[in-house]
Amino acid sequence: MAFEGLTERLQGAMRKLRGKGKISEKDLRETMREIRLALLEADVNFTVVKDFVKQVRDRAMGADVLEGLNPAQQIVKIVDEELTKTMGDEAVSLNKSPKIPTIIMMVGLQGAGKTTTAGKLALKLKDEENARPLMIAGDVYRPAAIDQLVQVAEGIDVPVFQLGTDVNPVEIVRQGLAQAAENHNDYVIIDTAGRLQIDEQLMNELSEIKDLAHPDEILLTVDAMTGQNAVATAEGFNDKLDVTGVVLTKLDGDTRGGAALSIRAVTGKPIKFIGQGEKMTDLDVFHPDRMASRILG
Ligand code: GDP
Repeated sequence: MAFEGLTERLQGAMRKLRGKGKISEKDLRETMREIRLALLEADVNFTVVKDFVKQVRDRAMGADVLEGLNPAQQIVKIVDEELTKTMGDEAVSLNKSPKIPTIIMMVGLQGAGKTTTAGKLALKLKDEENARPLMIAGDVYRPAAIDQLVQVAEGIDVPVFQLGTDVNPVEIVRQGLAQAAENHNDYVIIDTAGRLQIDEQLMNELSEIKDLAHPDEILLTVDAMTGQNAVATAEGFNDKLDVTGVVLTKLDGDTRGGAALSIRAVTGKPIKFIGQGEKMTDLDVFHPDRMASRILG
């Protein structure tokens, strides 16, 4: 289960304070030490952990929490609020273009869940807004990638624009956008190629697609199971493409929590959606406060 270890350790750290009418500075220091270790063990970025712990400690010291009523409960509340803040505070919705189509470019490493998420998002837009999205198959390096997108699209009854694997992806996107204009599609979702690691050639190609398509939204898909690597990936893509949002996938797995808690703080970019399963309906809007509650258990 996601966050299992982290939840247990955080609860354990704070349980020790329960029932105490007054908390000494030494108690607080010990609790903060345990929280810090719990976060580091969950693979949360070191700087994020440092800032988080300082923030919680300062608030606990500052607001007479230690002397007040129910200090343990107040500290739980502060931890909850600071976790929420670290993950961005508010849900951030999809960027929309004032005139159709809204163009969404999906980017991410191979296996992160890009193609699956493109389908999930198309279905969400169809279901919630009665939208008529068009998907563009821009991954020409793996023939299986196009087949996969076509299969996903058939399952949710959304059209795919594709020109096979022999045409340059920038040209595919150009022609796909022309088709979307002709058909008055209100959304275009561009699936792009992924690699096992960030490489310059791929980044240049993605930049070219970005320059041509002027996407309203560049959604980076990252695998929550990969912890700090997910954060490094996010930084790499963001440096080159200035992404507008992140989709964190595989939160139904036993991720430790590092990616969820670090990405916003490290990149400054909001997590907009979370993937919670392999089915097309398993995509949810990311709510930092709900995620904080889930982490605290
Ligand atoms: P891409 O290479 O980035 O396009 O990745 P895919 O979309 O092909 O996804 C790779 C694998 O991850 C597939 O088996 C997907 O079914 C799976 N996957 C994607 N998102 C999720 C998710 O949120 N939860 C789970 N459990 N599996 C996912």
